[in-house]
Amino acid sequence: MQPLIIDRSQHTVSRKNIAPEALRVLYRLHEAGFTAYLAGGGVRDLLLGRTPKDFDIATSAHPNQVKRLFRNCRLIGRRFRLAHVFFPDIIIEVSTFRAHVPADSAQRVTTKEGMIVRDNVFGTPPEDALRRDFTVNALFYDIADYSLVDYVGGLKDLDARLLRVIGDPRVRFQEDPVRMLRAVRFAASLDFTIEETARQAILDMKEHLAQASRERLHEEMLKIFFCGRAEAVLQGLFDTDLFAVLFPEVAAWLDGAGGEAGRDWMRRALRQVDKWKAAGLRPGESLLWALLFGPYFEARSADPGLANLSRTAARARTAHDQLLNPSHRVQIPRNVARGTADILAAQAVFPRTQGKGPRRFAARHVFKDAFVFFKFSARARGENEELVKWWSDFLGGLRDPAPEPPAPAPEAPQRGGVASPSDETSGTSII
Ligand code: ATP
Ligand code: MG
Repeated sequence: MQPLIIDRSQHTVSRKNIAPEALRVLYRLHEAGFTAYLAGGGVRDLLLGRTPKDFDIATSAHPNQVKRLFRNCRLIGRRFRLAHVFFPDIIIEVSTFRAHVPADSAQRVTTKEGMIVRDNVFGTPPEDALRRDFTVNALFYDIADYSLVDYVGGLKDLDARLLRVIGDPRVRFQEDPVRMLRAVRFAASLDFTIEETARQAILDMKEHLAQASRERLHEEMLKIFFCGRAEAVLQGLFDTDLFAVLFPEVAAWLDGAGGEAGRDWMRRALRQVDKWKAAGLRPGESLLWALLFGPYFEARSADPGLANLSRTAARARTAHDQLLNPSHRVQIPRNVARGTADILAAQAVFPRTQGKGPRRFAARHVFKDAFVFFKFSARARGENEELVKWWSDFLGGLRDPAPEPPAPAPEAPQRGGVASPSDETSGTSII
C-alpha cells in the first residue's frame, strides 16, 4: 500500500513544537534501527496549529525491545501492550505497529455483539494506520526524514475539516462503540464536521454505546469535560441523542420537567468549565457533577421519601444516589459522589453569617468548592447577590496581608498539577 508522503519542506510540522522527550524517544528508536513515527492526535494537533495534549509514538520495535532501550520504561495494558517511557514531567506512550484484525479472525476475541475484547496483533505501518479510528488520527510523522506519511487520506480530510471514520463506520462503531463518543468529542473540540455516513451511523447505532464498559465511559466523559470545548460536545451529545444513552434518567427529566431550561443550565455549567480551562484551571470532579446536574438533583429530591430531610440535605442525598444510579452508563467513583453530596449539603451554611460560624465554615475542606458552586448558582439564578458579596468581603478580610501566592500555573497536562478554580487567586473573570 503506497502512502502519500509529504516532504519536510512541504508541511508545517516542526520539531520545535514537539516535546523534547518525545524527540529523544523517537531518535533513540531510530538509531537502534527501528521505524519510529510520531502518531495519533499529536500529529493532527501540530498540523492544526494546536498544542498537542500528548505525544504518542508508533514503532516497529516490539514492547520488549522498547523496554530494553529505555531504562525509565514500563509495559502496561492487557488488551494491547504499550510501553510508557517516563520522564520527570511527561510520559511518552510508545506502541508497536498493530494490525486491525478482521472480525472473523481467530486472533481477535469479540463479544457476541461484535465488540473487540482483545486484538493484540503486531502489524505494518499501513496496517497500524488502518486500525485507527479517524483519518485525521492516523497520520504519521517520520523521524527518519521528517516527512508526513498518510495512508488514509487524512491530510485531505484535515484540510476539509472533516472527521471521517477509517473503513465502514457501522463496522467500526460496532467493534468499539466508544468511537461514536470520540467522534462527537473530536468534531466539537476541533471544530470539524462528522462525515455524513458516520453521522448517520451514530444516529442509528447510538444504543450500542450502552455496551461499552462503564469505567471507560467515565474516562471518556472526563476527557469531554476537560477538552476545552465541553459545551459544544454536550450539544453534540444532545443532537445525536448519545446523551440519553449515557444518562437515561437525566435525559428523561430533560424531556419532561427539566426542559430547555435544564439544558441551558447544563450548557452554562460547561461554558464555565471551558472558561476555566482557557484560564488554565480545572475543577475537581465532584464540583463538576454538582455544577452540571444541580437542577436535576434538585428536581429528583422532591421525592416524598425524603420529606423528613431539609431541602439541602435531600438534594445532597439525591445527588449521591443519582451519581451512583446504575441505570446511568457512566461509572462515577463513590468518593466523587460523596464529594458532590458534601458540596451540595454545604450550601445550607451560606445564609448563616453570624458569629464564629463563617470562620469555621471557611476553614472546612469543602468550603472552596462549595463557594464556587454557590457563586455559580447565584449568578445562574439571579439570586443571593447580597450573600455572595458578603462572603467575598468576608474572605477578603480573612486573607493574610502577606504577599499573595503566585497565580496558578498555566495548565499543562502531564507536567505537574493543575490548579483548580477554587484555588484561583486573581479573582474576577472566573465566576
Ligand atoms: P487526544 O487529543 O484526546 O489525546 P488522540 O487522537 O491523541 O486525542 P488518544 O485517545 O490519545 O486520542 O489515542 C491516540 C490515537 O490512538 C488516536 O489518535 C487514534 O489513532 C488511536 N485510537 C485511540 N482510541 C482508538 C479507538 N477506540 N479506536 C481506534 N483507534 C484509536
Ligand atoms: Mg492523545
